[in-house]
Amino acid sequence: MPVDYHVHTYRCGHAEGDPSAYLAVARARGLREIGFADHIPLYFLPRAARDPSLAMADEDLPRYVSEINALKNVYPDIAVRLGIEADYVPGHEKELAHILGTYPFDYVIGSIHYLDGWGFDNPEQLAGYEERDPDELYRAYFTLLGQAAASGLFDIMAHPDLIKKFGCRPATDPAPLYETAAAIFARAGVCVEVNTAGLRAPAAEIYPAPAFLYACRRFGVPVTVGSDAHHPEQVGAGLEEAVALLKEAGYRSIAVFTGRRRSFLYL
Ligand code: ZN
Ligand code: FE
Ligand code: FE
Ligand code: ZN
Repeated sequence: MPVDYHVHTYRCGHAEGDPSAYLAVARARGLREIGFADHIPLYFLPRAARDPSLAMADEDLPRYVSEINALKNVYPDIAVRLGIEADYVPGHEKELAHILGTYPFDYVIGSIHYLDGWGFDNPEQLAGYEERDPDELYRAYFTLLGQAAASGLFDIMAHPDLIKKFGCRPATDPAPLYETAAAIFARAGVCVEVNTAGLRAPAAEIYPAPAFLYACRRFGVPVTVGSDAHHPEQVGAGLEEAVALLKEAGYRSIAVFTGRRRSFLYL
């Protein structure tokens, strides 16, 4: 696999390792590009409510940016990209647009981690699944995902069926949700992320599910790939499987970014 476009750093409060440690593993594993995509500060919450174990603080964002940028031209054998993983929360688009416009990001990955304030991918909030219906959760999640893609704020949609992380599966076939999301992605001009963290979660499956990736392929949605590493050892993890899945779905290239402009690498 030539690139890993989704790695975190110690700054988010729940990952280990500084950027140079991630970069060292990426070089050792022969990647052509590594893209940092650490969690954006929790801009949509009042300051006092921001859990420092979920994302970096406001004042750390400029430090993150300069730290990654400083690694960009250190080694000739690998390209370093400055990305960010940004939560989409309806009603907070303007604040997010302002932050994203302040820094020279190579790409922005849009994520849904909250449904009405419930952090459904947070192991500490697992109890939330008990009082909710999987079909309704899938509907709510995919509605928000479509809204996020259509917002124009993002280049890439992260782990697009994250709602399955802890094994939540709908009783009804999610195929129509996949189709609708893929159509919205295509119209919005966003990429879909093939994220291997699902293999390490109870879901035990890459995000997106094969049927979802096939739908994206039918609609001509480009893809990026990432491990969602939260430890340097996870850089590149599962990416061979991701490539196998991509080829099976008919993909021949992956998208890469500089300065929020997209180009393609052949697989
Ligand atoms: Zn994280
Ligand atoms: Fe995420
Ligand atoms: Fe992530
Ligand atoms: Zn992530």
